[in-house]
Amino acid sequence: MDKLEYALRQIRNCDFCGGTGNLYYGSGEDYDFEVCACNTYELILDEDGSVLWDNGMLSEPELLMSGEAR
Ligand SMILES: [Zn+2]
Repeated sequence: MDKLEYALRQIRNCDFCGGTGNLYYGSGEDYDFEVCACNTYELILDEDGSVLWDNGMLSEPELLMSGEAR
């Protein structure tokens, strides 16, 4: 499983953000959003699930997904 697939799976399985990867606040013109904890690469997805944005770490050579120092 590649990194993107892994990241997308984490997002889809997240109950906190409802599988979107981002938490939205407010409504109408006045809204803001925050990246959910499940969204390692700060992905923004379109309706088809395609990646519109990532924070650049997705294309880094190899980052260890396990053993995060936190
Ligand atoms: Zn989430």
